[in-house]
Amino acid sequence: MPKATPVFDGHNDLLLRLFKNPGAREKIWLTGEGKGHLDLPRMQAAGFAGGFFAIYIPSPIAHDDAGFEAMMDAPPYDLPLPELIGHQAAQPVALAMAGHLLWMERASQGAFKVCRSTADLRACIASGTIAGIMHMEGAEAIDPDLDALHSFHAMGLRSLGPVWSRPTIFGHGVPFRFPGDPDTGPGLTDAGRALVHACNELKIMIDLSHLNEKGFDDVARLTDAPLVATHSNAHDVTPSTRNLTNRQLAMIRESNGMVGLNFATVFLRPDGRKSPKMSLDPVLRHLDHLLSFLGEDHVGFGSDFDGATLPEGIGDVTGLPALQAALRAHGYGEALMAKLCHQNWLKLIERTWGV
Ligand code: ZN
Repeated sequence: MPKATPVFDGHNDLLLRLFKNPGAREKIWLTGEGKGHLDLPRMQAAGFAGGFFAIYIPSPIAHDDAGFEAMMDAPPYDLPLPELIGHQAAQPVALAMAGHLLWMERASQGAFKVCRSTADLRACIASGTIAGIMHMEGAEAIDPDLDALHSFHAMGLRSLGPVWSRPTIFGHGVPFRFPGDPDTGPGLTDAGRALVHACNELKIMIDLSHLNEKGFDDVARLTDAPLVATHSNAHDVTPSTRNLTNRQLAMIRESNGMVGLNFATVFLRPDGRKSPKMSLDPVLRHLDHLLSFLGEDHVGFGSDFDGATLPEGIGDVTGLPALQAALRAHGYGEALMAKLCHQNWLKLIERTWGV
């Protein structure tokens, strides 16, 4: 059996699990407790080379609430979006979650590092140190004057999505709807356009996952960086609002950008259901589709570990070798495996942040 290829990953919600479980961070991150999808020992065992760690402001009514869970397992569905959260309410939460990431580095005693540059990232990969990138999924914590953007950048923020699905002062996200397409509302606001320029200036990567189609087009018009959707799939295979149409995929390819394949069952299964009882065949269908539209250099993974229900054949981070075995059995060679698993993400980050 071939050695597991190291995986660099486009999206996880481990910081949210830490935030929701105060007092348990040593157990959750350092020793692991066999719960959730990620912890340091399981990452090391599975060949998890690093990834984007999301700061996400929970809504008063969570999208993983039991009622919504049941609806998402019985399509068609169209979940209402939570209300906008102002920056005064969001900032303490975002500060705490940025703090969790910085604590993870300190507590790991050299096993995990928060990367702020391409050189940091390359050094981590070369030494086997797990590389973390501070990402914001939804810019609720950023004020209209963007002062907080500079503060979070100084803390290590290097990637940001203007919206999770709920609206922000910067733009509108897609509601969780199946079937549905991503053209669900208006594009970026004036503040959103200013945010794109500021992110370009600071070399903060802009994440298009969760943005609606008009917002996507606005970023594409304004940005000087490659277009990136860190954790989205192919709309042709699974017609969810969260997945990318062929037109969007063509624009991403044109920009020398990147898509990370989301492992969430609701975005993988052609029937849109949430149930984890599924084979890995839909994963192969999405990857084949993404590869045919984007080419081999523009596809990677964006697991959504600790943020979604995953296929039972993956389960958690320790399922990465089983996923890789399925890709090899499907005929993907070692050069393509290395691109999908980490090389494409590293090159994309280099194109975005500079060498
Ligand atoms: Zn997400």
